Amino acid sequence: MNYEVIVVGAGPAGSTTAKFLSEKGVKVLLIDKSKFPREKPCGGGIPIRVLKIFGYLEEEDIMDSYSYGGFAYFSSSNQRVFLQKDEPIYATLIRKVFDYDLVKLAIKSGATFLDEKKVVDIKISKDKATIFLDDKTNMDSKIIVGADGVWSIIAKRMGLGQHGKKVGMCIYKEISVSNNLLDKFFTNKRIGYLHHKVQGINGFGWVIPKKEHLNIGIGEIRSLIDSSQEKIDLKEIFNKYISELKENKLIPENLDMGRLKGAVVPASPLEKTYSDRVIICGDAAGFANPSTGAGIEYAMSSGKIAAEVIAEALKVGDTSERFLAKYESIWKKDFGKDIRFFLKIQKRWGKQTNKIIKLISKDKKLSEMAFDILTGNQRVHTYKFKLIRRVIYLSIRNIFKKK
Ligand SMILES: Cc1cc2nc3c(=O)[nH]c(=O)nc-3n(C[C@H](O)[C@H](O)[C@H](O)COP(=O)(O)OP(=O)(O)OC[C@H]3O[C@@H](n4cnc5c(N)ncnc54)[C@H](O)[C@@H]3O)c2cc1C
Repeated sequence: MNYEVIVVGAGPAGSTTAKFLSEKGVKVLLIDKSKFPREKPCGGGIPIRVLKIFGYLEEEDIMDSYSYGGFAYFSSSNQRVFLQKDEPIYATLIRKVFDYDLVKLAIKSGATFLDEKKVVDIKISKDKATIFLDDKTNMDSKIIVGADGVWSIIAKRMGLGQHGKKVGMCIYKEISVSNNLLDKFFTNKRIGYLHHKVQGINGFGWVIPKKEHLNIGIGEIRSLIDSSQEKIDLKEIFNKYISELKENKLIPENLDMGRLKGAVVPASPLEKTYSDRVIICGDAAGFANPSTGAGIEYAMSSGKIAAEVIAEALKVGDTSERFLAKYESIWKKDFGKDIRFFLKIQKRWGKQTNKIIKLISKDKKLSEMAFDILTGNQRVHTYKFKLIRRVIYLSIRNIFKKK
């Protein structure tokens, strides 16, 4: 057996797992079906808080640029919220560069990387875990990490489930734009836009200006759609969104969007994210914010947690699912609480939306709190009571004002 752990998928989840495991002296193979560097559909924004957790992102100069503010538009209530800060509120990245840089860091830590290797099956035996590749070869290890994205073959073959219809559908495009033009439209503070329920969809549109790229997209949460509802053409909605952005002079008039790309984000975590000799991380496990689709932070955090649990499992010589269950209890205590909170508000959002948006748009403190949560700079579970207290205070103040 050449490797103790094989990590399938070299996105942020897989590379982070491989990096932290290698640093602990574990022999790791990181494999991916694509040729690297590869593209990955993404808005490319991450909370500043993530840079503090994974300090090497800035130390190694991996980030593309920073945004100091943004506008959020809520068409259902005709409200607009604007926030700008002296400090950046989120960082941007170019996935083709970012993911490859993370792979290089894993290699630097000691991991072996093989690209253009597609896993088609997995078999767990008493004394080993085997993966089967599409070139008819196979490889053994003690533990397999499934970090193979939203359509994970590892999760599927292990019977841990698939995301099926519970996904968010996106159409997006990232194009190169000159620094000067971006400065003109979005200032050097790179002010972005979020349009809630753009063109009436159950989701939102985004405009994320980067250093020399502009990323525009729309996302719709399929699980929120009534099955009797008429199917909508997301590409058509995207084109209308672009026209509206141009009409309102929010983006350059002559921007050519070219061929559009579609992609999917998971809407909720799998019920079980481990089994004998297997751990599932990142999108494969369904770790994305159900309201915004953001998943890079959870992918990296789950990779780090997986590495800690696996290193311990190898040390004590216990790779059973009973031991690996630790992984699930740790991620649930860490970012799992955030995901649960967002799933809850998604269900209740409909009834109270307009009331809450009005409160947010009229109160600077609440706007800042809402931005902190939406951009992921505050973990919701540590912040929610502060938020609820403010909403109650404002609601009561409004009642007295009316009297
Ligand atoms: C349109 C869109 C916009 C988004 N915007 C944001 C954003 O702004 N911020 C944010 O935080 N998140 C965003 N996300 C979510 C984010 O892209 C994901 O959460 C993140 O990529 C998850 O990382 P991962 O490593 O789990 O999976 P991936 O990044 O999907 O990596 C999985 C890897 O596995 C490989 N693989 C798959 N199958 C196999 C196989 N059978 N054999 C070998 N290799 C395999 C793939 O080639 C891929 O490289 C967005 C997603 C979409 C679709």
